[in-house]
Amino acid sequence: MAGTDAPPQSAGRTLAARCCVAGGGPAGMMLGLLLARAGIDTVVLEKHGDFLRDFRGDTVHPSTLEVMDELGLIDGFLKRPHQELRRLGGEFGDATMRIADFSSLDMKYPFIAFMPQWDFLDFLADSARRYPSFRLLMRTEATDLIRSGETVTGVAARDAEGPLEIRAALTVACDGRHSVLRARAGLDIEDIGAPIDVLWFKVHKDRDSEPVLARIRAGRMMVTLDRGDYWQCAFVIAKGQFEAIRAEGLDAFRRAVADVAPILAPHTGDIATWDDVKLLTVRIDRLKRWTKPGFLCIGDAAHAMSPVGGVGVNLAVQDAVAAANLLADKLVHGCPSEDDLDQVRQRRLWPTRLTQAMQVVVQNRIVKPALAASPNGVRPPLLIRVVNAWPWLQGQAARMVGLGVRPEHVRSPEIPPP
Ligand SMILES: Cc1cc2nc3c(=O)[nH]c(=O)nc-3n(C[C@H](O)[C@H](O)[C@H](O)COP(=O)(O)OP(=O)(O)OC[C@H]3O[C@@H](n4cnc5c(N)ncnc54)[C@H](O)[C@@H]3O)c2cc1C
Repeated sequence: MAGTDAPPQSAGRTLAARCCVAGGGPAGMMLGLLLARAGIDTVVLEKHGDFLRDFRGDTVHPSTLEVMDELGLIDGFLKRPHQELRRLGGEFGDATMRIADFSSLDMKYPFIAFMPQWDFLDFLADSARRYPSFRLLMRTEATDLIRSGETVTGVAARDAEGPLEIRAALTVACDGRHSVLRARAGLDIEDIGAPIDVLWFKVHKDRDSEPVLARIRAGRMMVTLDRGDYWQCAFVIAKGQFEAIRAEGLDAFRRAVADVAPILAPHTGDIATWDDVKLLTVRIDRLKRWTKPGFLCIGDAAHAMSPVGGVGVNLAVQDAVAAANLLADKLVHGCPSEDDLDQVRQRRLWPTRLTQAMQVVVQNRIVKPALAASPNGVRPPLLIRVVNAWPWLQGQAARMVGLGVRPEHVRSPEIPPP
């Protein structure tokens, strides 16, 4: 499990590092690992006390598995409990459609590994701790940027003992789609828009259940993630509709869940109160600039991703790999120039744009019509019927989702641990 590496005591509670990474999600933990592996003195701040928060995307895609392989971590990683998804299907009313075939990918790991994200992050933290230049400060929340003129020189943070300053040559915001640091940096955001939100809850799973992922039925849509003895459910709603759904009462909501996934009907009583149902707000946006002098945003802090395709975790990991490839050598000598930092945006903008465009197409062509469909009239959308009929397209869908655009490979150096 993740634990806190205690900050060295210093007068005024200030500590120094070459790089301060704010946020211990997929982007932050992967970047922390890669920079520490390259011998860069790196501190990662995570505001929570562990990675065991309920909501984390569970998908580790072939491109990320390849990165783990390049890091020599794949065997240990795949020893952790996980499921391997080689074909992705969806239920549209009574019709089951094939959407993506990962087994057709010509790769060493042609599957999506489903692993609760806290296990993935714990694994990255444990791997990073082998390097002496890695520090992880849990329960430490970044609250502001420290500046000297226009240049960012570190992070103001807060932990259980109070305020703390981390002075760093480079600060990287990996604090997710509600990033405090990108707001503090005043970077302009292009809001692309997402018409949906997600209600997140658990329901008991019978042992012999079919591992169906996406379920669309009766004007409703739900994704069910198999977590062994329970389904982690993501019930999709039109943006802003949660209050209206609550007003109809919990029984009506339980019925809606059973309508879209009859297999869950015997267990909807597990949703005992509205406290069991978390509203997750979805957004798709993108920063116009990802940098300031001494400061870089990556992952959702640079481009918030929707759940569509389950690709955000992997895009965040790819950003981290690209950032380490481009910056690790330069960080040895101090902070890279803003032009150097901007190379990360230049490299990752194209994959980000294309992936977000894919999410917009799916949300507009599949998710919105599914939510608007009459309770009796569920027909798989044309796009899905075409993909279902044509295995080559299932391979292309697997490539887009599983590998993404411009997959990154680890090129940053390793200074082996003592
Ligand atoms: C409802 C929903 C479902 C999704 N499902 C999937 C899925 O199944 N698969 C997938 O690939 N993608 C999914 N996504 C997208 C995915 O969650 C993100 O793209 C991905 O998590 C981005 O990773 P990240 O590291 O940039 O940010 P995050 O995962 O958001 O991590 C940010 C981290 O920073 C910490 N933090 C935040 N603020 C601070 C602060 N001020 N100081 C210190 N720490 C801070 C947070 O606690 C968190 O650990 C989903 C998104 C949504 C909205």
